[in-house]
Amino acid sequence: MSDVGAMRILLDVDKCIAVGQCLLAAPKVFDLDDSGIVVLLDSMPPESERPAVMNAITRCPADVISLAQD
Ligand code: SF4
Repeated sequence: MSDVGAMRILLDVDKCIAVGQCLLAAPKVFDLDDSGIVVLLDSMPPESERPAVMNAITRCPADVISLAQD
């Protein structure tokens, strides 16, 4: 079976230290609020965003972002 299911993004916002790496990596998926804390623009982005999201997960120094698989 090749169906990997939809990508669903989870944020542990309380751990965000507002460095903005997620926004740089995946600007269609993440934004920052006025305090620099991450905001999720798209909790279920298309498969085409997967590399950018994985890059954001790798670059986030505070382990805020994770993926759930339904
Ligand atoms: S990269 Fe991580 S710590 Fe930095 S703003 Fe994004 S979620 Fe927050």
